[in-house]
Amino acid sequence: MTVALTPLRVAPDLVVRETVGVRPHRSRGFRVGLEVMGDTRVVHHYGHGGGGFSLSWGTGEIALALLDDIDAPPDRTPIAVLGAGSVGLATARLLQERGHEVEILTADRVDGTTSAIAGASWYPVGVFAGAPLTEVSGRVFEDAARRAHARFADMVDAGVGVRWGDEYVPDNSPDRIEAGHGWVFRRLRSLYPGGELLEGDAHPFATRYAFRYRTLFMDASIYLPAQLEAFVAAGGVLTHRRVHTVDQVRALPQDIVFNCTGAGARQLFGDTSLTPVRGRLFHLDPQPGVDYGVQIDDFRYVVPRQNALLLGTSWEPEGTELVQEGRDAAGVIPEIRRVTQR
Ligand SMILES: Cc1cc2nc3c(=O)[nH]c(=O)nc-3n(C[C@H](O)[C@H](O)[C@H](O)COP(=O)(O)OP(=O)(O)OC[C@H]3O[C@@H](n4cnc5c(N)ncnc54)[C@H](O)[C@@H]3O)c2cc1C
Repeated sequence: MTVALTPLRVAPDLVVRETVGVRPHRSRGFRVGLEVMGDTRVVHHYGHGGGGFSLSWGTGEIALALLDDIDAPPDRTPIAVLGAGSVGLATARLLQERGHEVEILTADRVDGTTSAIAGASWYPVGVFAGAPLTEVSGRVFEDAARRAHARFADMVDAGVGVRWGDEYVPDNSPDRIEAGHGWVFRRLRSLYPGGELLEGDAHPFATRYAFRYRTLFMDASIYLPAQLEAFVAAGGVLTHRRVHTVDQVRALPQDIVFNCTGAGARQLFGDTSLTPVRGRLFHLDPQPGVDYGVQIDDFRYVVPRQNALLLGTSWEPEGTELVQEGRDAAGVIPEIRRVTQR
């Protein structure tokens, strides 16, 4: 079968912008747990590494279940959420759905969060150092992933920047496509429907084969403002404020606080197991007809957004500085080009 697919154009001189962000990575995976600090109950919900966009709603549901352990009224409870990234916004919306009165406190504007930088295809990788450490953590991960995926799938066609699209894995070996596409893909295989191996001229890539499946794309530039708008429309209050110390957390008027500060939890709550991992994206102008994604490996990919074509390029555990090292720093653009262009 011949696929009428518009070929990508990838070259260093097509780059119009570079963005750098810090993934809130913990080798043990995300933290969802309750901590009692005097009169204040803190529900921790952070540390999603490279998968916080994808997992946000699912780990949010697990975090909200902890309210059952707190002696709080079932609704209309004043609750503070620290953080307005994908995790904080999903948490705040879930709390509102349960009828609570929610205030978000955030140091950064929504468009200044790590979440606003994310490539945001639905692919929760880089959440653990490798695969989950135990069968239990694997089950929690899978449960969160499936719940989150269901929420995003419900948003398709709702005008909030979530859609199904095709994604391709180009490779010269069909075995490597299946074996090398990572444990996340294999474990959550049913969430990537329509798998089909294409060969030769059936795809436009430089490799012999390309594996195609359907996946969810979340356009952060549309999705995050839409979530914020929904939050405010439901009566939520957004306050731009950095909380500097645990004492300041305890001094908040709300007795229940959800900590969704991402990498900020290292400084605010002293979680030294948070070892942020830098990642960078190169932005190209959108290319007409290129509405599909390409996954070369876990951290090198192409994601189409409405206003840009994003090249994801790196997993940089060695640095947390948000430095831009110049276009094509790692020689990665020629590598993406070599695989994607004939
Ligand atoms: C290059 C790159 C590509 C990525 N691609 C994907 C992808 O394709 N799919 C995917 O699922 N994930 C992806 N990720 C990972 C994803 O971006 C993160 O896991 C996710 O954004 C984490 O969301 P968050 O809400 O926890 O943190 P953030 O988005 O960082 O939000 C943290 C919030 O907490 C606030 N805050 C922090 N400290 C304080 C404080 N002391 N007081 C008040 N507020 C505070 C901040 O201001 C902010 O509002 C990518 C990340 C990078 C860097």
